[in-house]
Amino acid sequence: MGTGRLSIDLQAIVANWRALANLAQSDAAPVVKADAYGLGIGPVARALAQAGARKFFVAYAEEGFTLRRALGPGPEIMVLSGHMAGDARALAECRLTPMLNSVDQLTRHLESLPDHPFGVQLDTGMNRLGMEWSEWAAVAEIALSQNPVLLMSHLACADETDHPMNAYQLDLFHQMTDGLNVPRSLAATGGILLGSDYRFDLVRPGIGLYGGLPFDQAQPVVTLDIPVIQVRDLQEGEVAGYGNAWQAPRPSRLATVAAGYADGLLRSLSHRVNLWHGDVPCPAVGRVSMDLIIVDITDLSDDPESLRVIGPNQTVDQLADAAGTIGYEVLTSLGTRYARSHRE
Ligand SMILES: *Cc1c(COP(=O)(O)O)cnc(C)c1O
Repeated sequence: MGTGRLSIDLQAIVANWRALANLAQSDAAPVVKADAYGLGIGPVARALAQAGARKFFVAYAEEGFTLRRALGPGPEIMVLSGHMAGDARALAECRLTPMLNSVDQLTRHLESLPDHPFGVQLDTGMNRLGMEWSEWAAVAEIALSQNPVLLMSHLACADETDHPMNAYQLDLFHQMTDGLNVPRSLAATGGILLGSDYRFDLVRPGIGLYGGLPFDQAQPVVTLDIPVIQVRDLQEGEVAGYGNAWQAPRPSRLATVAAGYADGLLRSLSHRVNLWHGDVPCPAVGRVSMDLIIVDITDLSDDPESLRVIGPNQTVDQLADAAGTIGYEVLTSLGTRYARSHRE
């Protein structure tokens, strides 16, 4: 049964992908790294492939291996970490396309897998992955002679529309790639929303597919319901949870539910989040523990069988706000104990 029921709306993911592709007016390759942001790479990628997606991004060759088994031979699978030591076999056998990030990776790739497709990631100021301009200048001729399938870069501040870094990176990307006659990609979800200048030939939406900000037009994708294990009554002044961190301000009825910080309901949510019974908010009380959360259900007329953590009354981003983090981290922290169901 698992600790809770995590329901994932595949049609909403497909609709979000179509909406972003439509906005971008370019090829939109879903980013399904980290198990499709925790939502299940197999079902998510199959639904997108069925809807027409032909290119996908993963972070690591290992994830590409999983994805190739899920999708079969057709779609192109691109690996953002490039060609790391030990990757050659997986890249070759699963026909994965690495985005080469450094001169070392380019050398490794051309030596171990000549004639195997690749792209190049360029660093335009984020200083995370990719070749800097001087490195690119030194190897561009060799790289271009092998027909790379893509030149890409990544924006550091795309979720801040007015940040001057966006225009700076756009300009540098133009200078590094104009006139080279290779398909280009700069935008993830945030970049797509910055405007047509940022969209180039291919966009790489991740979080927007899964219903998260900054794509505020996204259809919601996730609902999460947690079963109640036990219910009890407290007198005013009694305490609950680790450290006696909560004291009943009135006679109270408490429900203990079957999920905790090991299931992505971060400990920083303690005292800061509601679980929902229909439209009635029920505040979590005491500290979130590893497997359990205590909830004040005094205001409910009947004991609930389960309470909802993510749904129409509380989005992933609202939950993230309460925890002091971002929607990406909430989704990828959900863990493996929930019973997942993928609605077609
Ligand atoms: C994760 C990632 C993406 C997707 O980003 P979102 O903000 O989730 O849309 C795109 N490109 C690169 C290089 C990434 O690392």
